[in-house]
Amino acid sequence: MKRDVKACTLDELDAQCRAWGEPPYRATQLTQWLYARGVTDWDAMTNLPRDLRQRLASAYSLQSLDLVTCQGAADSTRKYLWRLADRALIESVLIPANPALYGETSDRLTLCVSTQVGCAYGCKFCASGLAGWKRNLEPQEIVEQVLAVDRSLATHAAGGGQAAAQAPQSAQRRIDNLVVMGMGEPLANYDHLLRALRILNAPWGRGLGARKITISTSGLCPEIRRLAAEPHQFRLALSLHGATDAVRSRLMPVNRKYPLRELMSACEDYLERRGRQITFEYILIAGVNDGLDQTRPLAELARRLRAKVNLIPYNRVEGLPWDRPDEPAQELFLAALERLGVATTLRREKGHAIEAACGQLRLKTERAQAN
Ligand code: SAH
Ligand code: SF4
Repeated sequence: MKRDVKACTLDELDAQCRAWGEPPYRATQLTQWLYARGVTDWDAMTNLPRDLRQRLASAYSLQSLDLVTCQGAADSTRKYLWRLADRALIESVLIPANPALYGETSDRLTLCVSTQVGCAYGCKFCASGLAGWKRNLEPQEIVEQVLAVDRSLATHAAGGGQAAAQAPQSAQRRIDNLVVMGMGEPLANYDHLLRALRILNAPWGRGLGARKITISTSGLCPEIRRLAAEPHQFRLALSLHGATDAVRSRLMPVNRKYPLRELMSACEDYLERRGRQITFEYILIAGVNDGLDQTRPLAELARRLRAKVNLIPYNRVEGLPWDRPDEPAQELFLAALERLGVATTLRREKGHAIEAACGQLRLKTERAQAN
């Protein structure tokens, strides 16, 4: 299998181009075509000599994602379902303005990307875990989710058409905020994830600020510590969902391997070394983790880590028995946490009709294809 050009760093491409006897600016020209212009075809790279283009094409693949469906309107959440080269399906979700999530109040364009096909962690409430784990995504498959959505935005802005898709993107809206919260456990695909994020972050790459990139994990302690030692300033979100081992282990099997004591210690390590605030994700599931008695242990954990808490009403998953509490119960939980001095947000989304939780669209499509 050929390596994909979008899995390579500028240094690696530069070394290859020089080994071929090319002038020193070639690799930069190449990365400009890939990341500033967003082209998907070697032949579009018109300032590279033809023989070099042929050489590149025989040495590297240049994969792009194949769009299966795109659901949702331009001004609300939009969900992309992609087919990969081996026909596996993954999702990305575009969230236009999202004050309650990671960004400040602004009109940011946030993209939620997947890191694996399926997930091995089997959280009881999650669609991604239902069908099990198939494989890790390659670095270029993570990078391409951002580039492919950029291209689709350019196409929409220009009124559609092939020419628009190839247009320079500087004048278009592009993704400016990334959350690694789609299908899969990002830290279980650590090396590919970090390579993809370095490419997305690099000035010669997609140029997304490290502080605009949030990695969400179900709590893999060794990898949280490893992330703490990286030079990049990526943000960390922890899928907590239970403030005691009893509740958390019922929802998330990973808690048996890394119980709260160990998890909090890994997060403390991250906090000490990085100095960056961690966000706790807390899905509210009726009758499971939404009792007001849970707010005190949750507040204790949050205070210990100086974390903020993001409450997310559960999205129903077909075939699973769980549901979200009603709105008054959500507000009560929020108010109780605030009274305990914890910075808390509650995602009050309007109509979760297209089901933003990643994994659900893929599951539906696979079920429909199986019928
Ligand atoms: N594996 C990582 C990242 C992907 S899941 C993790 O677990 O953090 C991203 C977030 O979506 C997690 O907080 C997860 O718990 C949440 N999630 C999964 N299914 C959901 C559902 N049906 N409704 C609401 N949030 C859900
Ligand atoms: Fe995997 Fe995250 Fe879903 Fe758990 S919540 S099954 S870790 S994707």
